[in-house]
Amino acid sequence: MPVFERRKYEPKKESKPRSRGVPGGLWTKCPECNEMVYNQVLKKTLQVCPKCTHHFPLGARERLISVCDGAKFQEHDAGMEAVDVLQFKGVASYTSKLKANRKKTGLKDAIIAGMGKIGGREVSLAAMEFAFLGGSMGAVVGEKVTRTIERGLQKKAPVIVFSASGGARMYEGMFSLMQMAKTSGALARLGAAGLPFVSVLTNPTMAGVMASYASLGDVILAEPRAMIGFAGARVIKETTQQELPKGFQTSEFLHERGLIDLIVPRPEMKETLARLLRYL
Ligand SMILES: [Zn+2]
Repeated sequence: MPVFERRKYEPKKESKPRSRGVPGGLWTKCPECNEMVYNQVLKKTLQVCPKCTHHFPLGARERLISVCDGAKFQEHDAGMEAVDVLQFKGVASYTSKLKANRKKTGLKDAIIAGMGKIGGREVSLAAMEFAFLGGSMGAVVGEKVTRTIERGLQKKAPVIVFSASGGARMYEGMFSLMQMAKTSGALARLGAAGLPFVSVLTNPTMAGVMASYASLGDVILAEPRAMIGFAGARVIKETTQQELPKGFQTSEFLHERGLIDLIVPRPEMKETLARLLRYL
């Protein structure tokens, strides 16, 4: 037995601070201003921080309801489900990921599409759900966007798509990338019929989605401080070995350079869309 034995330190267990009767999940800390915001307040402000106007993510359904007259939205193609065509082998199978994301979001895939009215005008619209596999675009998302455009064509209604996506869905490989051409083709037909397409970019809209329908709007709107681009900033920096300008890939940066027509804070989205539709 050694003469000098090193003393063993037991890490002191920190006792949890008393909650003082405040149940968890009632408050959200704003990452921008560090203010604790009451969740009920966030619900009323459409997930916008009342202190600094930071835009928290907004679910696809809440978004659609927030812009439609009388909060009425009629969903179409709700039952469409993705299948693991490529039998994708990774750390976790695509099928198990789909299952987990369906459970988490209550949706079948990363988009909700249908019909509604904005400012009294019938519109065909869809919103992407970032919480579902990063809002990635696979065959189902591509097909539902295409059908949203085709419904607009059929009913002679303007089309609006709210994007929130990391890009194409890698688990579906080429089938994902095909959606870029398919959605763009449908938009060309919509344009030829003289019907408008309004693309609304929310945080984040990247890669394959940005490189197809999201950037093809007759009018392109964006939420404030949303990240928008093709490849991520880090990839561009590493490839080009160049310092990127300040504010690179934000809506404000792209608005200054003419890629985005208007930056619209979420509480003004419905009114702005209604006004736009009157002009178009
Ligand atoms: Zn804030």
